[in-house]
Amino acid sequence: MENFYPVQLKKTENNSLSVKWNDEKVSEIPLTKLRDECPCVNCKGESVIFESYIPIKTPFKAAGFYEIDKIETVGNYAISIKWKDGHDTGIYSWDILRKL
Ligand SMILES: [Zn+2]
Repeated sequence: MENFYPVQLKKTENNSLSVKWNDEKVSEIPLTKLRDECPCVNCKGESVIFESYIPIKTPFKAAGFYEIDKIETVGNYAISIKWKDGHDTGIYSWDILRKL
């Protein structure tokens, strides 16, 4: 398996996150998609044995829901994104980012 990691992350003017990878590939991920795919337990739920917890999705989106407040790197394998509505529990590993 190849090891991909971002060499540059930046926010574009059309509300996407542009990710430049070590293999020169550039991905542009719309912030809406990034937020909708937030991998944290609150957003994605989790499976416990015999039971799965599915978070309730409300159609209402808080102000700043799709806006990034800041991005921090987590070790050398992921970034954590803080959104302007205060949500900051999503950790996006390189793997997840690459798939988006
Ligand atoms: Zn989340």
